[in-house]
Amino acid sequence: MKKPKVRREDLAPGDCLCNHCSGKCCRYFSLPIETPTTWDDFDSIRWYLAHGRTLVYVEKGTWYLVVMTRCQYLTKDDRCQIYLSRPKICREYTTDNCEYDEDWIFEQVFETPEQIWEYAEALLPPRRRKKSRATLPVISLSANGQVR
Ligand code: SF4
Ligand code: SF4
Repeated sequence: MKKPKVRREDLAPGDCLCNHCSGKCCRYFSLPIETPTTWDDFDSIRWYLAHGRTLVYVEKGTWYLVVMTRCQYLTKDDRCQIYLSRPKICREYTTDNCEYDEDWIFEQVFETPEQIWEYAEALLPPRRRKKSRATLPVISLSANGQVR
């Protein structure tokens, strides 16, 4: 059954916001990544996004990779199965500034390989392509193997 949505500011004293949440913070993880500056950097991001259930966003100049994947310890009723021994990153996370009532709006966000590639094309000078075989000069050898 879907839980009623309680507004953060309406939370009763002593109640915990997590009691009214679907465990939003346990359904993904996010890591800062290098700011892309080259075609190779953007190509890596294109690869991240090609996997699906990923997105890349930029907030205050920092780039982040998000992987949408549910923690294996989140129970069906959205509780932490290992609450007392949960990882440090979870223990240090509080409801104060959590994403309970956030709509995931970012300064910049890329959800598909095509989006990041379009962005790279607008930002970077055109890629230098390797010469194809057809454009390579033809070298002919004489009978003794000398280049003519
Ligand atoms: S910390 Fe926030 S986002 Fe995470 S479960 Fe609690 S209310 Fe939900
Ligand atoms: S270990 Fe527990 S608190 Fe941490 S992400 Fe998993 S379910 Fe959430």
